[in-house]
Amino acid sequence: MTGNRGDRALLDLDREHIWHPYGPMPAAAEPLLVRSASGVRLRLADGRELIDGMSSWWCAIHGYRHPALDATVTDQLERMAHVMFGGLTHEPAIELGRRLIELAPEPLRHVFFADSGSVSVEVAIKMCLQAAGPTRSRMLALRGGYHGDTFGAMSVCDPVDGMHQLFASVLPEHVFASRPPGGVGAPLEQRYVEELRGLFERHGGELAAAIVEPIVQGAGGMWFYAPGYLRLLRELCDAHGVLLVFDEIATGFGRSGTFFAAERAGVAPDVMCVGKALTGGYVTLAATLCTSAVAEAISQGGGGALMHGPTYMANPLACAVALASLELLETGDWQADVARVEQTLGTALAPARQLPGIRDVRILGAIAVLELDHPIDIDRATQAAVAAGVWLRPFRNLIYAMPPYLCTEAELAQLAQAMIAAAAVA
Ligand SMILES: *Cc1c(COP(=O)(O)O)cnc(C)c1O
Repeated sequence: MTGNRGDRALLDLDREHIWHPYGPMPAAAEPLLVRSASGVRLRLADGRELIDGMSSWWCAIHGYRHPALDATVTDQLERMAHVMFGGLTHEPAIELGRRLIELAPEPLRHVFFADSGSVSVEVAIKMCLQAAGPTRSRMLALRGGYHGDTFGAMSVCDPVDGMHQLFASVLPEHVFASRPPGGVGAPLEQRYVEELRGLFERHGGELAAAIVEPIVQGAGGMWFYAPGYLRLLRELCDAHGVLLVFDEIATGFGRSGTFFAAERAGVAPDVMCVGKALTGGYVTLAATLCTSAVAEAISQGGGGALMHGPTYMANPLACAVALASLELLETGDWQADVARVEQTLGTALAPARQLPGIRDVRILGAIAVLELDHPIDIDRATQAAVAAGVWLRPFRNLIYAMPPYLCTEAELAQLAQAMIAAAAVA
């Protein structure tokens, strides 16, 4: 649908009235006008096509206009787009809940459907506070972490690089551990082990829960750390009666090479958040899963119920397309696809290690990161990538890609070239 308004007029209206993520009003840079998207490509209004190296903020793992997902949405539309979830229920939500429980680690048995990742984190925090009772009201989180933009979620994001300074007077003060030492295969550093132990010894009695992004810290710095620290956290949480929350919103559904990132550690959380790729990038949906012990503590505790209930909870279109996306993962070969992304980007980006200004090149599953030794000129870097036919969204000193799993080797090679071109001008 192109409408009657010209592209220039649309962009002028956008600039005048519409907020974009983390942006000023009016915006500093003009966004690209997208007309449509299919496969792994965005089609711009001016006719250019870009490989989407971001999968629309890590969601569109199967690419755009996937025939099976399109058909599912159309089919569900013919039944109903939405009904409220208070007092009513429906098959897409029930089937999706059942499927998520099958896929999640064993002790997670209950699902709360939220309308975005941030809300699922709010719900996770509420679950922990309600289950832990009034004497435990603090969370333990990691420096370099990112858990969303709502207030509860913000309060467990990195306190320096996050938005804590702006909202310091209204954010609760939680307990923070340093960013874990880098490297998925690196041996545990005793210094960090002692830091975590010390924090639990000092604060264990006032903590309701610890919340972490397992293995991969995403928007807080595209940082990878060893599974051993998750096992240690599980041990410390158990020893101190503290719940453990895994935020798998960025990592879930194969992105880091295992279906859930925490599988590398072989430990299960008490509460787990999923979102982003849950619907294959079609409709916003997230979920918070919890154990029976957590559910019982909440339901038998003071409130007697979990105190949350979004208007669009368990939206049927979103649930139906999420089920279809999970089925695509199940019937396809996402392990092979993600391994191909890892290998091809790994080979193509290896020479970047020698380039001036590049501090680190790291790749895990379908996540590839160039870390520069200086803050990036975002506009120049983005334009260089676009000139190379690729959509990237660098931040701070990081140029990274999280492409759809089904990118071909040629598309991945082009993506790597665009990352290197962006780094060269950044
Ligand atoms: C994106 C993200 C969130 C927030 O999800 P929204 O859907 O943007 O609210 C929370 N946690 C992690 C790890 C994320 O990557």
